[in-house]
Amino acid sequence: MLNELIWFPTNKCFIGGKWVSSSTAERIIIENPSSAEVLTEVAKGSAEDIDRAVTAAEKSLLNDWGQKTAAQRSNVLFKMSNLVLKYADKLAKLECLDVGKPLSQAKNDVIALARYLEFYGGSADKIHGITIPYGENFTVYTLRERLGITAHIIPWNYPMQIIGRSIGASLAMGNSCVLKPSEEACLTALAFGEIAREADLPPGALNIVPGYGIEAGVNLASHPKINHISFTGSFRVGSQVQECAAKNVVTTTLELGGKSPQIVFNDADVNKALPTLVNAGIQNAGQTCSASSRILVQRGIFEELVQKMTSRYNLLRVGPALEDLELGPLISLRQIERVIDFERNAQDIEKVAEGSILDPSGQNGFFLSPKLFVSENPNHILAQREIFGPIQVIIPFESEEEAISIANSTEYGLVASIWSANGARQMRLAKAIKAGQIFINNYGAGGGIELPFGGIGKSGHGREKGFEALYGFSQVKTVAANHE
Ligand code: NAD
Repeated sequence: MLNELIWFPTNKCFIGGKWVSSSTAERIIIENPSSAEVLTEVAKGSAEDIDRAVTAAEKSLLNDWGQKTAAQRSNVLFKMSNLVLKYADKLAKLECLDVGKPLSQAKNDVIALARYLEFYGGSADKIHGITIPYGENFTVYTLRERLGITAHIIPWNYPMQIIGRSIGASLAMGNSCVLKPSEEACLTALAFGEIAREADLPPGALNIVPGYGIEAGVNLASHPKINHISFTGSFRVGSQVQECAAKNVVTTTLELGGKSPQIVFNDADVNKALPTLVNAGIQNAGQTCSASSRILVQRGIFEELVQKMTSRYNLLRVGPALEDLELGPLISLRQIERVIDFERNAQDIEKVAEGSILDPSGQNGFFLSPKLFVSENPNHILAQREIFGPIQVIIPFESEEEAISIANSTEYGLVASIWSANGARQMRLAKAIKAGQIFINNYGAGGGIELPFGGIGKSGHGREKGFEALYGFSQVKTVAANHE
């Protein structure tokens, strides 16, 4: 099946507008999480490949790409957006096979990628400096300039969406990019290289080097010619990347993990909230940075909500990604073991519901059933640590103050939602809760290309998505002219 879906070399790096072999000719084996079979092999990028990619990016800024006007950059991004839609079917199936993501979720990611490129294409020529009143004898203005070469190190769980939000914004501002996709899933990232080539993105404006974090990743993060690092991944690696950045005194955007709560008050419309309470936790088998893994419920509706979520959980099915059930497999056996380890630590709290694996006898993939726990203790390990698997914990609370205190009790702060009919309470909690995004009577607002996204605390810093990302991928220069 893979052969029908690929129209680009899977075993090469994309450098300077061309597909080139890695300097070592070594490969990384990519598995299909739905079958545990080998899917294909990709290039194992080396330090030398990273250096070639950075050199190509540098050249592109001195040549063609560096000379493009904002309107010309817009046009290339629009072309790329249209090509993503042209290849939508192949891209979605590739993501299914590579990430193990149910087909309809992979289709959403393709649409999001196209939309990011369209959004950032549309904004490239609308961001500019300002003039500053500074007295009669001065004219003062600011220029908003590109950063230069931006590094993009991304995880395996949402490759297309993360490429869209970070590469799209960076190219819009006129930077040249070096992308290091994850060793676990990188096929749509490679497809994106071919899309850039077909769209006539000038050579070197985008370079893609697949490889391991400890080799290609470290070398990219510490390369002295990189001007900014956009990192999406775990807290552990994020802090290492920031150390590399510190040595070269370059900026970072760190999009890290989360333990995001949904807070349901007695006056909430429970039936309206119910599908979202569950879906936000099990989407992509819970392997989502903004997965809502904690459900905080006010005591008055606690029993009712536990019972309703239990009924929903019992209907959840897990199976191969192309079968498009509620959940696909996890990314790897290692990830399953990690989640099972958390389950072992949950013997002291009640498991109230569990979904089912479809036809388990015929499946060799990395399948794990989703599980719903109840914990009276908000400090339980399941209620504090990022699990990155299909597990949610319901925690009761009595008062608004207690809800805020529990919501803010983890070291993360990515997303939170408030389910309540009380407008004043919605506003109070929106201010009091520590998170980069707050949703009221919804969760995620359908994806929200336009909505700035990022964390506080150990969820990271800096913002991507929306117009805000364009500021992050550019810098301000102040010009003060004395014309006395
Ligand atoms: P990870 O941190 O293990 O890897 C992320 C990327 O970093 C990969 O490309 C990897 O090869 C690379 N890498 C690994 N070690 C490196 C090093 N020492 N130097 C440079 N690069 C290195 O994360 P993962 O397992 O791929 O993804 C899961 C994590 O990502 C979760 O914690 C999740 O919450 C987070 N995530 C966050 C967001 C967000 O927007 N906040 C989005 C998706 C995923």
